[in-house]
Amino acid sequence: MAGVGPKRAEVLGKELNINTFYDLLYYFPFRYVDKSRIYTVRELRGFEGDLPLLQVKGKIHSMRVVPGKVRRLTAIFQDETGSMDLVWFKGISYIQKSIKPNTTYILFKEPTIFNGRFQMAHPDIEEAAQQEQNKIKSNIQAIYSSTEVLKNNYFSNKAISKMMSALLSAVLPTLAETLPPHLVASQKLLGIQAALLNIHFPQSAQLLQQAQHRLKWEELFYVELRLLRQRAKRVTESKGFVLAAPDNEVKTFYHHHLPFQLTAAQTRVLQEIRRDMRSSKQMNRLLQGDVGSGKTIVALLCSLIAADNKFQACLMAPTEILATQHYHGIASLLGDMNFKVALLTGSTKKQNRIALSEQLQNGEIQLLIGTHAIIEDNVQFANLGLVIIDEQHRFGVAQRSRLWSKNAQPPHVLVMTATPIPRTLAMTLYGDLDISVIDQLPPGRKPIRTVHYTDTQRGKVYNFLEEQIRQGRQAYIVYPLIQESEKMDYENLQEGYQMVCKRYPHYKIAMVHGQMKPAQKEQQMQLFVQNQAQILVATSVIEVGVNVPNASVMLIESSERFGLSAMHQLRGRVGRGADQSYCVLLSGVQLSATTRQRLQIMCSTNNGFEIADADLRLRGYGDLDGTKQSGISLNLKIAHLGEDAHLLEASRNVAEQILEEDRFLANEKNKILLQQLGTIEKRRVDYSVIS
Ligand code: ADP
Ligand code: MG
Repeated sequence: MAGVGPKRAEVLGKELNINTFYDLLYYFPFRYVDKSRIYTVRELRGFEGDLPLLQVKGKIHSMRVVPGKVRRLTAIFQDETGSMDLVWFKGISYIQKSIKPNTTYILFKEPTIFNGRFQMAHPDIEEAAQQEQNKIKSNIQAIYSSTEVLKNNYFSNKAISKMMSALLSAVLPTLAETLPPHLVASQKLLGIQAALLNIHFPQSAQLLQQAQHRLKWEELFYVELRLLRQRAKRVTESKGFVLAAPDNEVKTFYHHHLPFQLTAAQTRVLQEIRRDMRSSKQMNRLLQGDVGSGKTIVALLCSLIAADNKFQACLMAPTEILATQHYHGIASLLGDMNFKVALLTGSTKKQNRIALSEQLQNGEIQLLIGTHAIIEDNVQFANLGLVIIDEQHRFGVAQRSRLWSKNAQPPHVLVMTATPIPRTLAMTLYGDLDISVIDQLPPGRKPIRTVHYTDTQRGKVYNFLEEQIRQGRQAYIVYPLIQESEKMDYENLQEGYQMVCKRYPHYKIAMVHGQMKPAQKEQQMQLFVQNQAQILVATSVIEVGVNVPNASVMLIESSERFGLSAMHQLRGRVGRGADQSYCVLLSGVQLSATTRQRLQIMCSTNNGFEIADADLRLRGYGDLDGTKQSGISLNLKIAHLGEDAHLLEASRNVAEQILEEDRFLANEKNKILLQQLGTIEKRRVDYSVIS
């Protein structure tokens, strides 16, 4: 390719994973700048705040090398209205050689203010007379993301742009359409050639927008088409255990042990699960339900169904605290029932493990509850029929599939989550799952009242806490724990703990955090569970699942540092009994607009779906818990799951329609689809080998 020797090609490959023409063509700009306009130095003063990427036109003089610890090259840029400083720290001799006196240049960079003067560091420089030598012209300049290594190898934005221009001129006319003509027409999409041209060299703002739309639509469409085909395949080909025996255990439990009536939503969800387990297909179902909606009892009933069919079940939870709590909770619900439940976590003693292992292998244990420890190779079941994963977003796909492989025939799988995300997105992120939703809370719950106070009002908040405790209630006080600043966070936690102890000398205060030994953690937890401690000071380790119905206050310290979903999970720890419960958000006084908005949303709604929605709007899906580790490598190059959610939905509908008409894509008019799926699959494999 023009201008790319072997050395530079290697740099492109290493730095940007660009190895082929295709890779380069689909290396999309991350933003655009209007280059139709040239600014004067005087005009720069008119900007408030950070200056944008912009062009200036003038001459460069007074170039000199400044020696010192950081050797640098400085110069003055001058136009008719004023001057500004230029500075380079790298490529000094090259710049010195290439800049000519008395020549007009166009410079392109975000100016900064340094020592009270405007400055450009490492601007893109072009001779005015030679500007726009690219074969393809455009007033909207594409900006590509770059790396230090790239810049040091002279891959400036200008260079990438030039390369792109050469490539497009050479290959564009030969590029074949990647969508069938009937779709291009019915969806009113730009053709592939026009789309690729305009994404790199927008001929107008409108064409740029159309190009983005076309490429995003196509990208998401093929993701959905692939998933839908996989799903169809599973539905027709997979085999699952048929769990259709009479409900002896289930009935005993239902009539003699269930302490409440199931909600309508719980009943409906159970029917959905039941239908799956009775069919001869493997169940692969996601159970969504807001915090406190009662997912655990559903899990237990499913395990009893398995037991009625002489199959074992296991329930995996992401933390030891949660697994332990599930174990105690379920054991007490079962009472004297003849149903054997066991607990296996990282801190299960070796002796116990041996006994457990034996009872698992002879089928004595009917439900095994535990943490990741369950996945270990030496844990073998006699006949595992059902795997339930709680708070599934905490586990990666790889971990989950290790549970599958514990049987020759895969067990039924139920994953449970309290992180509600839109249906299409969930199906896309977690692959090919069916979805059930518990969209109702058990009756009699009073909505939690949430209030926001700043640190200066702490005294008032502490008094309120005391009042609640005097009424026999209990309280959580939670401190943030963010990995990067772990040490500082623990100091905050310890300080907080001391402060709380001093403030409430008459109460017992328990504390749990991630650095404690499991046994110690469990002992502190138990103090709180049994109301021997009135306050539990904790890091966000208690976020998932803990159930202490007597607790009525959740106090979140430094709430500005928590994400919305995390706060909602924490809040779900209270409001589990019949009493009015409260969530208090403490924060500093100075807050950014988004933070203020986040706290306001918390105060205004208890609805997990609304919160998740707001969270996605404020943060985007990129940071969504589990997205990173969900293991589905979507390799999206242009679409954004958050911003383009509507496209995801729309393209899925189209894909569904097409498959409905032409299940095997055998129709001549869909030939391109099949080809393209093949190409994409091949690329996916290539990528997965690399990464
Ligand atoms: P989550 O969905 O967050 O896991 P849990 O399963 O921990 O919720 O249930 C929260 C609380 O609600 C528990 O104390 C549980 O016993 C109770 N619960 C569950 N279902 C019902 C119901 N149908 N009626 C009354 N209480 C229920
Ligand atoms: Mg739960």
